[in-house]
Amino acid sequence: MASDRISVHRTLADYREDGCAKIQYPELPDTSVIICFHNEAMSVLLRTVHSVLNRSPDKLLTEIILVDDFSDQDHLKAPLEAYIARLPKVRLVRTEKREGLVRARLLGYSLAKGTVLTFLDSHCECSEGWLEPLLGPIAEDPQTVVAPIIDSILDKSMAYLKSGRSAAHIPIGVFDWNLVFHWGYLPEKDKKLRKDPLEPVKTPTIAGGLFSIDREYFTKIGTYDAGMDIWGGENIEMSFRVWLCGGRLLIAPCSRVGHIFRKTSPYNSIPGKNVFQKNSMRAAEVWLDEYKQYYYERFNYRLVDFGDVSERLALKKRLKCHPFEWYLNNIIPELYVPRDTTAGGEIINMKDGICLEITSRTVHGPVNTYTCHGQGGNQFWLLTTGHQIRRDDHCMRGNGNAVDVEPCAKNNTAQHWLYREDDTLFHIQSESCMDLQDRKPVLAKCSGNRSQKWMWKRRTQAANSVKESSFQQAI
Ligand code: UDP
Ligand code: MN
Repeated sequence: MASDRISVHRTLADYREDGCAKIQYPELPDTSVIICFHNEAMSVLLRTVHSVLNRSPDKLLTEIILVDDFSDQDHLKAPLEAYIARLPKVRLVRTEKREGLVRARLLGYSLAKGTVLTFLDSHCECSEGWLEPLLGPIAEDPQTVVAPIIDSILDKSMAYLKSGRSAAHIPIGVFDWNLVFHWGYLPEKDKKLRKDPLEPVKTPTIAGGLFSIDREYFTKIGTYDAGMDIWGGENIEMSFRVWLCGGRLLIAPCSRVGHIFRKTSPYNSIPGKNVFQKNSMRAAEVWLDEYKQYYYERFNYRLVDFGDVSERLALKKRLKCHPFEWYLNNIIPELYVPRDTTAGGEIINMKDGICLEITSRTVHGPVNTYTCHGQGGNQFWLLTTGHQIRRDDHCMRGNGNAVDVEPCAKNNTAQHWLYREDDTLFHIQSESCMDLQDRKPVLAKCSGNRSQKWMWKRRTQAANSVKESSFQQAI
């Protein structure tokens, strides 16, 4: 409704940083823009299309290919066809059944004529000067995938909110061992090495919805994994593949595209079909080598049937891609790799039988408890040889009587614990034990009470020695 009240041609401010507008690009390749959609709101879809038409140099835009992934809403049938009939560069194709975004994009790719392919979601707004910074690095080296900075369009008001990510706070895409993409920032030491703050930055992963890639390179590098359904995982798979097989992934700080973010993703609610896990498992099976154990351990999804990945493994061989360890050492050396752990899994209180958890990966706040759900995820903790109780980048800390999480810091003794033979979690600094009182973990004088005993799976030395030697070399 908010979108329907706003022009599909609305004006946007110029959100670029000073200096972006002055950059001179060499001869740039032309691009096909591929937008797939499933039941998108009409005005939102059309605003996406017009923002491309209105803000792309005519000679760089070959065509816009809309791929309808089996929508059932009426406005996307004859009314959409009638509307785009007036737009010579826009064409519409439809899948014959619900395919999901990977196979829908592949259908668009099979028809595209442009030198470069630019993929967009169906709820975007391209802002001033968005296209040239995406095409520039491809003109220099076609084995390059380039993503813009993604701004937020609020789903309630359609307000365009420029993200705080900028040349000063350069965003990069990263991931955790659950194989979920999230944003990070370029480490200070890498920032210092940059000569020009506006130049594109190497990123370990891309968010996946919005990027440009040379069409022939897309073919050569194995397009997408067509065995992935509906939504999710394809961006991580492509990120690993591009880096491991000789290409590079960049974020162009001068390209800004707005995207409507939803509160929740609707795709995993299909009963019995955990498509995201299936897709991620395919990525893990093909690219993670022995490191896939860290992914599988985080979740108990071994039982999902991920189908056949032999063709993707053959592609990996044909392209002579690096092993995953190369990516860890060279592309994302900051990522915590849980090699050095002595306990792992859920931490269950022996008196109440409930589990320690945190609500979200970014929260710096109290540790809570909840019924054990047995699926790992937010109840999955690791004990490191450095005495941290860790979840990705967050570690448990004794803070007065309270127990909370904060970013891990090796030498912060408030984060140091022992999991003792008597099943107590001993906080070294305060010489106290983690206790459960009113369903909350607290620090208390060690008493030997059952409320201070925690069940946590201990590891044998052998199980936790994956490539310890090469890890040593890397550091
Ligand atoms: N999409 C699709 N078929 C599907 C699921 C998604 O065509 O089965 C489209 C969707 O309309 C959107 C894009 O793929 O244009 C990415 O999906 P979405 O925006 O829901 O993902 P998010 O941005 O929330 O990660
Ligand atoms: Mn989207």
